[in-house]
Amino acid sequence: MTVATLMNRDLVLIGVNLPDGRHADVGIRHGRFAQARNVRDDAVEYTALDGCLLLPGLVDAHLHLDKTLLGGPWRAHSAANTIADRIENERRLRSSFAPSVRERANLLLEMAVSHGTVALRTHVDIDDDIGLTSLEAILDLRCAWGGKVDLQVVAFPQGGILRRPKVPNLLDAALAAGADLVGGLDPQAVDLDRNAHLKIVFDLAAKHAKGIDIHLHESAVEGTESLRHIARLTRQHGLAGQVAVSHAFCLGAIERDDARRLADDLAQSGVAIVTAAPGTAPMPPIDLLRDAGVRVAAGSDNVRDVWSPFGNASMLERCMLIAYRSGWRTDEALTRSLGLATTEAAALLDLDDYGIGIGKPATGIVVPSQHVPEAIVERPAPKLVLSRGVILRNTVGEGRTPNPLHIRGERPCKE
Ligand SMILES: [Zn+2]
Repeated sequence: MTVATLMNRDLVLIGVNLPDGRHADVGIRHGRFAQARNVRDDAVEYTALDGCLLLPGLVDAHLHLDKTLLGGPWRAHSAANTIADRIENERRLRSSFAPSVRERANLLLEMAVSHGTVALRTHVDIDDDIGLTSLEAILDLRCAWGGKVDLQVVAFPQGGILRRPKVPNLLDAALAAGADLVGGLDPQAVDLDRNAHLKIVFDLAAKHAKGIDIHLHESAVEGTESLRHIARLTRQHGLAGQVAVSHAFCLGAIERDDARRLADDLAQSGVAIVTAAPGTAPMPPIDLLRDAGVRVAAGSDNVRDVWSPFGNASMLERCMLIAYRSGWRTDEALTRSLGLATTEAAALLDLDDYGIGIGKPATGIVVPSQHVPEAIVERPAPKLVLSRGVILRNTVGEGRTPNPLHIRGERPCKE
């Protein structure tokens, strides 16, 4: 059965558990969730999912598709520790990476989808050596996937903005070429001039009417000052809800009273925080941030690249790691952790009509778990991954399709 044929067929998921604990038959009609009794007579019935859990499609708010080494030989990880050393390490090695950016990125995208990710924000390196070549590869990949996955692209100055004179113009060109957001990186610690770095980032966002997502690894003192400055600029530019700061380790390195005041500032300014919970860095206090009204989302960040040998792009696993590092153990806390990769991440990416409900796009996953806490702890591979009613992964047999996503070797796709 071809994908096109399946897209025209209604589906029924028989006897699945819903996140709120109900047990139901779930219909899918014309790519949207529907009452099971309202699907057509020729609907494909999935009976092997009885007792499994239907969740909204997972959202990865921070993933570096262009950096992964998947598809190439194993590389021993470098001992480089500082951010500056790791940037130079990558610049020195990347000309030897194979296969191409597009092929490696596609493998990581396939891996993410196999774990239930249906939408993601990816940061793509832009600098004076590689120019826009990685960006062009990722934009082409987005086109080739034809909307099966929502892919947001950040033009990311991994090597800094001020240290490399061509980068401001390259970021400008990247936004004109189709990048959705402009990135930034440690404006004080890497570029040594917080004001000048952030001025370029916010001016570019204003010029192109696009959002901002800034990597911030800075220390307690530098980082908190940068966060306050980002919050101030966000208010001045009227960009509430359009600005995210990734990592923000400094929030986990300061006193809780100070973190609370800073969280209030971020909430009032509409600045979100994205975390990957890397094992060696201070953990932002997610409960404190959420209580203050800050939007917090989760991301995989680096998967199998020169920055990290770890990762599998599973957002259930990422939620587990965040819960583990945050000390969350109750069912309620584990259930709330899923929001970092569902509702909160979807709001960050501004996804339309997200979630499970009658009439909404049928985008979801079915996992062999009885409820959300068990899914977080066991982080199983999904049996079914659906995007707007299209089956992206199916391990239960019925309605099985040839892999519709295996696009390597196809002609380049121009938007
Ligand atoms: Zn990153």
